[in-house]
Amino acid sequence: MTLMQNFERLDDGEAIFLSPAMKVTIGIFVIGPTLLFLVGFIPMLAFGLVSWVDMALLVGFWALTAIGITVGYHRYFTHGSFKAPRGVKVALGLLGSMAIQGSINQWVADHRKHHKFSDEIGDPHSPWRFGISRKAIAKGLMFAHMGWLFSEEQATVDQYAPDIRDDKDLQRITRSFAWIVAASILLPGIVGGLITQSWLGFLTGLFWGGIVRIALVHHVTWSINSICHVFGKRPFDSRDMSSNVTWLAIPSFGESWHNLHHVDPTCARHGVFKGQIDPSARVIRTLEVLNLAHDVRWPKPQRLAKKLKDPAMAPRLRGYAAEVS
Ligand SMILES: [Zn+2]
Ligand SMILES: [Zn+2]
Repeated sequence: MTLMQNFERLDDGEAIFLSPAMKVTIGIFVIGPTLLFLVGFIPMLAFGLVSWVDMALLVGFWALTAIGITVGYHRYFTHGSFKAPRGVKVALGLLGSMAIQGSINQWVADHRKHHKFSDEIGDPHSPWRFGISRKAIAKGLMFAHMGWLFSEEQATVDQYAPDIRDDKDLQRITRSFAWIVAASILLPGIVGGLITQSWLGFLTGLFWGGIVRIALVHHVTWSINSICHVFGKRPFDSRDMSSNVTWLAIPSFGESWHNLHHVDPTCARHGVFKGQIDPSARVIRTLEVLNLAHDVRWPKPQRLAKKLKDPAMAPRLRGYAAEVS
């Protein structure tokens, strides 16, 4: 691997300050859901404390909040892959916030900085920062997955996300973040309790639709930063180690076609080869058909073909034949 040669650009020196209290709060939300999930999963199953209602809450809240991250935080707010009316912007901001991955401001700033320095010094979460030995990569994977969330090398909002910072609607959502977090945890319980008309339904709904869902969405998102920069295929000539990981395509709603994403960050579709499933692109297409999204930056196969390492793969790009003929 030639990766270490990439570690040549200097960081811009900006950093955020995290007080000890902030680090504890981050720790609760980073580790808490996973810990509760691990502790409760087997006993809940063993005692039969899971129903179809709970599964529906898990899948439903997973889909809504994952889309909030992939379509909202990532493709819309960070990269401007499409334009949307105010109502859609607010809905995506609320759903993304419900994934409990931080405010829109900070998420967007960190992710833009990730693209700017991708796998070089300054990248807030490169798995390659400790070197390329087996031990260094293991440490790097842990850092890229969750360790970086406690680091003060994260991007500053003023530098990387002034457009998000200055948007009045998004300011209001950011100010309401604590309430949105509470709603995200409690809502599945309330819905489960109302459907089953029981406190038990409230508790199991809270666990499966709240805790388990938050933990799973967390780890899938974090896997894009860790797994999708180490393992997988790299058909495109990106200047970093971003990769496409097929088995993560469905749980990540199409975000694991990460090698393409790094060569064409504003593209609304990440799964650009035939057969590559990209549910987030499907959601954006649905919004477009409903007139709830416009100016969508759909892939341009001929332009993408120029970025392929093997030009013979070009006909496998969706829409390539139609564009050429
Ligand atoms: Zn990346
Ligand atoms: Zn991105």
